[in-house]
Amino acid sequence: MGIVVMKFGGTSVADAERIRAAARRAIATRKQGHQVVMVVSAMGHTTDELIALAKGITDNLPKREMDQLLATGEQVTISLVAMALEELGQPAISFTAGQIGMITDDVHTKARIKSIDVRRIHEQLEKGRIVIVAGFQGVTEDGAVTTLGRGGSNVTLVAVAAALKADMCENYTDVDGIFTADPRIVPNARKVDRMSYDEMLELASLGANVLHNRAVEFAKKYNVPIHVRSSLNTNKGTMIVAETETMERIVVSGAALKDKLARVSLRNVPDKPGAAARVFHTIATHNIVVDDIIQTLDESGKATIAFTVEMGDLDDAKRVIGRLCDELGCQAVFEDHLAKVSVVGVGMRVHTGVAERMFAALAKAGINIQNITTSEIKISVLINRDQAKEALRLVHDAFDLGQKPKKSPSKARAKKK
Ligand code: ASP
Ligand code: MG
Repeated sequence: MGIVVMKFGGTSVADAERIRAAARRAIATRKQGHQVVMVVSAMGHTTDELIALAKGITDNLPKREMDQLLATGEQVTISLVAMALEELGQPAISFTAGQIGMITDDVHTKARIKSIDVRRIHEQLEKGRIVIVAGFQGVTEDGAVTTLGRGGSNVTLVAVAAALKADMCENYTDVDGIFTADPRIVPNARKVDRMSYDEMLELASLGANVLHNRAVEFAKKYNVPIHVRSSLNTNKGTMIVAETETMERIVVSGAALKDKLARVSLRNVPDKPGAAARVFHTIATHNIVVDDIIQTLDESGKATIAFTVEMGDLDDAKRVIGRLCDELGCQAVFEDHLAKVSVVGVGMRVHTGVAERMFAALAKAGINIQNITTSEIKISVLINRDQAKEALRLVHDAFDLGQKPKKSPSKARAKKK
């Protein structure tokens, strides 16, 4: 008996039938003797539809008003879920972020949670109710509505679970768990049973969009295990947990693709202390998220600083960089046709030859690598977007990720009997 926080993503609450199914699932957990909190996303593609509505009005989407608009998606779901629960005989109450003091900073469209006041949730749980919390949204100290970035309901899930010191944190989605690669692109991808926070963190920021990376950061920090599982069946999904020694035996746990990347290259940047700081200070103050950074020196003693950004940030980057280059006397080049393919595994810390295997697979198919970045547990290559899916499949095969793990002889024998 303890607190279970269950999060249902957009597809898992897409219509009345799915909402009832989610409600039944929560009631089943309640009947096992747990106190249940549900975190829900906007129904189906609601968030995209709301964005489309805004685009029908203006090209220049004002961030504060976008938050005001997008937060309505989750508000619709919480009330419907509460009604579904009541209809099934289960007392329930829904809360928006403002009603449970889910305080964030004021960075609209990608706000970060600062604190949650869980008193009202506890109070309602004590009364035997299931509490439904709106995912994705927050409020600033001044009461402005914020959102946590696309896919941000996962962040709400983990934050609520951590704040409540929940016993279990379950992420219900439309897939069976975390796969070795996106099964829509790599048909022989395999479900992973357990994955470490660090691997999931790398995969999430490298394009595997099942879990928001901020959600995983939060989970790691507060050591909240997340069970990623399907709302369509009762199969075990993937447990995201703290790293164990046995995890290092596997060299690569997953491969990922991030296919909407752009590169900004600044040429003729003065090669002197403070230049890079200047560039990235400007970028950071405009809340543009920078991915990989490379600096090289040319013969004339000037530097080239190149970095990648998400396509969605490219227009902002162009505006900011234009002004900066006027001041620094540098020239900017923008490329918008790039993608990044990565392999991730904590086993890379103890195994060698991983990079070679990846590069050889790409070379064999004539795929040109434009940039390489590594960390202790990942290798990423920047390539042309039109070759990205092929590259992901090749890399996945190069590490035999699609193969079923071999059954141990004792198990095989046991089966024969
Ligand atoms: N509804 C938001 C989105 O579609 C948040 C979420 O689903 O997690 O991005
Ligand atoms: Mg959604």
